[in-house]
Amino acid sequence: MNVVTRFAPSPTGHLHIGGARTAIFCWLLARHYGGQFHLRIEDTDLLRSKQEYTDSILASMRWLGLDWDGPLNYQTQRTALYNQYVDRLLESGHAYWCSCTPEEVEAMREKARAQGLKPRYNGCCRERNLGPGEGRCVRLKAPLAGKVVFDDLVKGTIAVDVNELDDMVIRRADGMPTYNMAVVVDDHEMGITHVIRGDDHVSNTPRQILIYEALGLPVPRFGHVPMILGPDRQKLSKRHGARAVIEYQNDGLLPQALVNYLVRLGWSHGDQEIFTREELIEYFDGSNLNPAAAAFDPAKLEWCNAHFMRELPLAELAGLVRPFAEQAGYDVSGLDDGRLEALCRMFRERAANLKALAESFAPLLTPAAALPFDEKAAAKKLTEAGKGHLAALREVFAASEFTQDALEAALHGYIEGNGLKFKDVAPALRTALMGFMGGPHLPEIMAFLGKEETLARLARAAA
Ligand code: GLU
Repeated sequence: MNVVTRFAPSPTGHLHIGGARTAIFCWLLARHYGGQFHLRIEDTDLLRSKQEYTDSILASMRWLGLDWDGPLNYQTQRTALYNQYVDRLLESGHAYWCSCTPEEVEAMREKARAQGLKPRYNGCCRERNLGPGEGRCVRLKAPLAGKVVFDDLVKGTIAVDVNELDDMVIRRADGMPTYNMAVVVDDHEMGITHVIRGDDHVSNTPRQILIYEALGLPVPRFGHVPMILGPDRQKLSKRHGARAVIEYQNDGLLPQALVNYLVRLGWSHGDQEIFTREELIEYFDGSNLNPAAAAFDPAKLEWCNAHFMRELPLAELAGLVRPFAEQAGYDVSGLDDGRLEALCRMFRERAANLKALAESFAPLLTPAAALPFDEKAAAKKLTEAGKGHLAALREVFAASEFTQDALEAALHGYIEGNGLKFKDVAPALRTALMGFMGGPHLPEIMAFLGKEETLARLARAAA
């Protein structure tokens, strides 16, 4: 099957998760069928469109791994092309010039409203055979009876009576083609076979279909995905995750986790939750798209991210976490990849994202003298008995080799040799090494810190 999809963002802001999900669906459908995925910048809102947003959207697309085929298209550069199609419609009698002023049109709408009808243009200039002129727009001569019916990939069959649609403007009085006109021309020129977009556009679709039909062009398949709701099933708010992709990136989310999470918001494959990219491409064939709106679940996104962080090869994780460690204010320039990998190995099970992972390194990257003690842990665990063990362990470790295995043996030798239990010693040792009651395996911590730093921490806590 020939499949050509496109993602058509308006560069009036950064790429948000709703748009990202649409882009992912379009990308996956194209990749599944070995087709093409295009990117079009819908920048006709001159006041709100900014190049910096286009750049940011492209950067987010790249970060998510959504590569596109062919050149980027900017709608503002294609006005002449759109108007060629408007002219075609005028010539074939499918469109007409209209001299009604905005005030007159508003009065028609008002009148319809007063009669309890749908506000609409009354077709006043339909048969007047006007030519071009100052202040005149071009309208599509829509059929007077019948239905526009399409089979939506997500929502199933949708039928709209043409009575609901008045003769829409396709070129404004200032000579600019309207949005629906531009989109149809673009989708046709780009050879788009499947239009997947947010369902805020579903009311445009019957209008666009009328334009395709008037032009005698094949109509693509449409799929309108419901918007993402907040956990409270209300409109997704900033507080609940309505954020830009770049914000998630800055928080240290992995792109593969965000992609996986977003795909599952509105699409399923049995009850599988975690997918490799290859699996997504293999399974995503345009079916199983859920017509019900999905609710954003930050905890699940976090879970998903933690999963991918655990799966990542350590070397790769270390490379990704380095900038976050720098940002957290540690001097990591002297920390070679091996040491960074060791930190990742110790802490990754407990961190939900790269930023949290980097921050969790703090106790091991802060020199003994500057290491803060958690007061509660210090008061409870650094008792006289605890301090006594620390002083004794300091001697034991001083005589040990500083490998994890040797330290493990030394620690257990001390515990068993003195008829103690692990819990008699470990909390004090942990507080001494970490400053609080948490962190990875004790011998692993000590092996990472090295002899000098470990002994300094024990001395400080014992004092
Ligand atoms: N530019 C539109 C938007 O950002 C997309 C329109 C479409 O996909 O047809 O919502």
